[in-house]
Amino acid sequence: MNPFIVVAMDGGAATGKSSSSKIISEKYNWMHIDTGSHYRTVTRALIDQGLSVQDLPTKKLDDTIKSLEPSTKIVADRVASLMINERLYQSEHLRSEKVNNVVSDFAAEPIIRYFLLNYQRNLVPFAKENGYSGIVMEGRDIGSVVLPDADLRFFLHADLDARKKRREKEGIADEVEKRDKMDSSRKVAPLVCVNGAISIDSGIHSLEEVVQIICDKIEEYPS
Ligand code: C5P
Repeated sequence: MNPFIVVAMDGGAATGKSSSSKIISEKYNWMHIDTGSHYRTVTRALIDQGLSVQDLPTKKLDDTIKSLEPSTKIVADRVASLMINERLYQSEHLRSEKVNNVVSDFAAEPIIRYFLLNYQRNLVPFAKENGYSGIVMEGRDIGSVVLPDADLRFFLHADLDARKKRREKEGIADEVEKRDKMDSSRKVAPLVCVNGAISIDSGIHSLEEVVQIICDKIEEYPS
């Protein structure tokens, strides 16, 4: 295998990106980066600073973004987590209904995307410096915008019913369809399956099968 492999994993809400990325990163001991949690963290930090959807876009947003200082904490050996002003937000704060309802509005703002784009691209050298032999970065625009030169780009998709059921099982209130519509139709970095990405239907394949398809591609990737 290549000395350092960059894998981009994109797809809509509840398509199994996080579960498969987690398994892949554990199998190869690669750094795992969940950029959905980046958008959730910034959204939460902005809400905590008093911003709401009505403040998008305004000077208040521009000014508040400047006060956010990103840094990275590696948790559970390989998960690169975004901290804002040295605060690591807990999962229950990031996956709450309150954040689910507005995260796509915040994520459509170019100033927020630009703030995170710089941060996300710098995670590649960060992973190398920290001795990892690869990264798996998941999100909506990884293969299209953040890391278009990734060694392998995957796009996960599944029919709406399968995805709703997945969220129901997790006991999470999440308007998957609404978020996907917003994420696919926004002007900057919309959710798309780019040419060259390997598209996988996670509605017809089990998680184990999805992971196997991805691992086969990784292992046959020229070194
Ligand atoms: O992956 P997750 O569902 O946690 O992502 C939350 C939201 O963050 C998405 O619905 C989308 O609006 C935004 N997002 C994005 N670009 C990414 C990752 C997530 O716009 N690369």
